[in-house]
Amino acid sequence: MGEFELIRRFFAAAPCAQAAEGVALGIGDDCALLQLPAGEQLAVSTDTLVVGVHFPASADPFLLGQRALAVAASDLAAMGATPLGFTLAITLPQADEAWLQGFARGLSQMAGGCGLALVGGDTTRGPLSLTVTVFGRVPAGRALTRSGARPGDLLCVGGALGDGAGALPLVLGQRQATDAAAEHLLQRYWAPQPQLGLGLLLRGKATAALDVSDGLLADCGHIARASAVALHIELARVPMSPALQAIAGATAADCALAGGDDYVLAFTLPPEHLAAVQAAWPATVVIGRALAGAGVTLLDDSGAVIQPPRAGYQHFGSSGD
Ligand code: ADP
Ligand code: MG
Repeated sequence: MGEFELIRRFFAAAPCAQAAEGVALGIGDDCALLQLPAGEQLAVSTDTLVVGVHFPASADPFLLGQRALAVAASDLAAMGATPLGFTLAITLPQADEAWLQGFARGLSQMAGGCGLALVGGDTTRGPLSLTVTVFGRVPAGRALTRSGARPGDLLCVGGALGDGAGALPLVLGQRQATDAAAEHLLQRYWAPQPQLGLGLLLRGKATAALDVSDGLLADCGHIARASAVALHIELARVPMSPALQAIAGATAADCALAGGDDYVLAFTLPPEHLAAVQAAWPATVVIGRALAGAGVTLLDDSGAVIQPPRAGYQHFGSSGD
């Protein structure tokens, strides 16, 4: 099977590559053409997953297809962007039809759920690597950035944290478990649900937002720095799933604070907007607040400062490889 047959059979013919609103020209020409309504800006983000770094070679291709798109689409949620389309640059060691079929099915499943159309890409041979670039649209000047938090804002998250990190030992085969709790964590790892609805809801309300991909504390540090505020987080308020607590036990809080891969939104919100946001997105939890100052501080029930666990994951950083 040649490159073009592969593209045609597994990608151009996939459900996610069919005609979609906002896509004036899809796969097959030198560029795709996306149509932006007047007054809207294009939101763009790229994520790469590399075999042996982000997933094991034995990873199920269906799950990998879902995850590759979900982690990229989560960035659109974090900006409050409406999904338009995505490109896929895929490097494959060989053209394995069963693998490609599973991968394209997973990709299409997540794309359908997110409202993202596959509009182009690149196909090359080499060690397995997946680069997804997502495109979204947002009314000019209304994207949710990291830099607008103000003292007095509440710090909120869009759901339970730590499931992705809690799933990691299961994903890597360091631990075997097949109970409902393990199933829940694996589902959250392989098919994270980008919080696109929450992102749209927060437009015009949240003062800053991001998706938690490197760990809550590290990512809140990004908001604190960009906004020049201090963020105080109350440990007892950080939401964790019963499944995480069952599987991770005493290390559940570490997973929630410092584990990556959650793809839950963290955002700052003036208190007057809380009721409306919680009514429309019931999983919203207030975990702390923004104050004048700098940095992220973790507090216990009595308001005393807790020394946080390890920092979030960083490629090339002192805590990562
Ligand atoms: P070019 O050589 O002009 O860059 P290619 O030969 O790489 O184009 O690709 C042909 C067409 O197929 C282009 O429209 C490209 O966007 C699309 N394409 C290539 N690989 C993929 C892929 N993995 N998924 C979706 N579309 C792809
Ligand atoms: Mg090419």
